[in-house]
Amino acid sequence: MDVAELPLVGGHPALDLVNTVERGGGERRDHLTDPTALLRWALRAGLLDDAEARAVADRWERDPASGLTALAAARDVREALHLALLAAMGIEPTDPGALERLRARWVAALGRARLAPDPGRTTATRLVVGTEPATLIADRAAVGAVEVLRDAELARLRRCPPDAGGCGWVFLDRSRNGSRRWCRMADCGTTVKARRLTERRRAARAG
Ligand SMILES: [Zn+2]
Repeated sequence: MDVAELPLVGGHPALDLVNTVERGGGERRDHLTDPTALLRWALRAGLLDDAEARAVADRWERDPASGLTALAAARDVREALHLALLAAMGIEPTDPGALERLRARWVAALGRARLAPDPGRTTATRLVVGTEPATLIADRAAVGAVEVLRDAELARLRRCPPDAGGCGWVFLDRSRNGSRRWCRMADCGTTVKARRLTERRRAARAG
């Protein structure tokens, strides 16, 4: 699957970032293979607009090392956020190192941010994160990651259950009764249900 077709099911760009890795029962596969893949994904996920994407591509073209640095930073944010989410959901113990990595990335991103008047004039100012094209995507990812950890309702946070055949992706369950179990019913939910049906039929035949 190309990064341009990767389903965005997290309900928040930072959760979609976590879901750029296949973490199910099979082998781990990272869809952010190079800086270009990161840029294409970020544009699709709504982390930046077309004009910003052109500025980022420009900068990375002139300074390829900055693209690789940005990719490493985005992956670091992604893995640290994943660990923090697993701890928040009670799946893994808290990893203070992961939280510290996120904090450091977040502080660096805020160091490059600026306050500006709100063009929409609904608030007095807004915080503009990602003023440097080279680091824009990683900075927005870091701020988004801390935002989702601080603001998302913990009871709505889910992981597509790997022990039940799910893919391990994380998402916010926004269903009214909080009953969403699978990241994508069309993929994970249907696959698991089909497998269960096969198993039941097999058991019935054996019985
Ligand atoms: Zn899934």
